Amino acid sequence: MTDTSNTEGKTIETEVVIVGAGPAGCVLSYLLARSGVDTILLERQRSLRREFRGFLFQPLVLRVFDQMDMLDRVLTLNHTEVRDIEVEVYGRSYPIMSLEAAPGPYNYALLMEQPSLLQALIDEASQFESFSYHSGMPAADLFHDGNQVVGVHATDREHNESVTIRSRLVVGADGRYSTIRSAAGIDPGLFESTLELLWFKLPASTIDKPVLAKVGPSGVLLSFGLGGGEAQFGWSIEKGSYPQLRERGIEWFHEQLISIDSELAEVLPNQLTDFDQCSLLHIEPGISDEWTRDGLLLVGDAAHVASPVGGQGNGMAIQDAVVAHSVIVTALDQTEGTLSNHALERYEWIRRPAVEEVVRFQRRAERPFSGFVKYGATVPDTLKRPLIRSFFWLISRTPLPKRARDTFMWGPSPVDVNTMHFSKTN
Ligand SMILES: Cc1cc2nc3c(=O)[nH]c(=O)nc-3n(C[C@H](O)[C@H](O)[C@H](O)COP(=O)(O)OP(=O)(O)OC[C@H]3O[C@@H](n4cnc5c(N)ncnc54)[C@H](O)[C@@H]3O)c2cc1C
Repeated sequence: MTDTSNTEGKTIETEVVIVGAGPAGCVLSYLLARSGVDTILLERQRSLRREFRGFLFQPLVLRVFDQMDMLDRVLTLNHTEVRDIEVEVYGRSYPIMSLEAAPGPYNYALLMEQPSLLQALIDEASQFESFSYHSGMPAADLFHDGNQVVGVHATDREHNESVTIRSRLVVGADGRYSTIRSAAGIDPGLFESTLELLWFKLPASTIDKPVLAKVGPSGVLLSFGLGGGEAQFGWSIEKGSYPQLRERGIEWFHEQLISIDSELAEVLPNQLTDFDQCSLLHIEPGISDEWTRDGLLLVGDAAHVASPVGGQGNGMAIQDAVVAHSVIVTALDQTEGTLSNHALERYEWIRRPAVEEVVRFQRRAERPFSGFVKYGATVPDTLKRPLIRSFFWLISRTPLPKRARDTFMWGPSPVDVNTMHFSKTN
């Protein structure tokens, strides 16, 4: 890495600049740093303590962390292990999937807050001289030479200074609303969704299962234990209905939640007193048409926006990073200058079919769910309750096909870290 400064700001040269310190950006940074690649990771926020979406990490992530020699450290962080997944319908529980019944050692999922996980990945990457992390430095635009991407323009907020980072490759890992994707003029390819999620936290003592979907008169309430003092909740609502819902007031909101989970009656009046404690989350999935260009590669939500259905987004982002690592290191070794689209396209060729399969599944799974949220209120409970209970009773009595469980655990096409590239720093 080299650094120069003049009146127009600072210029840094590196091999790879990664924009966005989410799961995709942090895993890829660690893998490239460990492979001896000059890597800069830029994060818009000063601190990693921000509002997060995904807390569930599938078994495939545990396996990848193990291959990275990170699993032992990750398991020292606050987390909850998920071994069984259940749905509760009008107070009655139905088992849906047992991960524990699958062969070990990775036969459980992790629920955890992301800041400590991302910090651990950044700390480990920082042990390699070839890596540097810059927080509070949002990328604003791409830097082109003809049709090739040759770097990014960013702002160092602490020093109020413009920074140009020249690189052989820019990786857009900046999530659902990616600046890098839009600077490249690539459409996110969003699919229509009729739902949104109202997202809020309550004390961990309000839940007794690590992960649970509760179905009741006023819809579906998701809850996740995070291994610390808090639990995350999500209530699904019809897209666009939030302003009317707010007008009905916080007590009305409490009543809806209590109709699904009566035990919340004691907590809500003290712990959820204002709609400002809630975030409204858009959940529509999407798949961009292009994931690579000369000098540019997109990973995670920047390439394919994930829906929360089935908790697949972190796993997809991390698998992208694993495949991108191998393709990037090989391309850096075998070519000179800007990495060409031709040298990068193997990454998209490997990952796109698996991502398309997951998104197809998520869209199919969302349809009945969304019908229930939209029209559920018009069907009397006396009819709704037995119908939904029978549906989940049937599911819980049918041994879930092994393929469905394997897909949840490993994704449609499992990937392995190319540890051969680590030899350069061992
Ligand atoms: C409601 C909801 C619930 C979900 N629940 C789950 C779940 O339980 N399990 C699961 O696996 N997935 C879940 N997902 C999906 C999951 O959150 C995403 O797929 C995952 O976070 C994608 O990781 P990423 O690294 O690609 O992007 P992100 O996690 O979005 O990280 C992007 C990073 O880039 C930074 N950034 C953005 N712009 C810039 C810029 N211009 N310059 C520098 N930095 C920038 C951001 O600050 C952020 O740190 C959920 C999604 C939603 C909407």
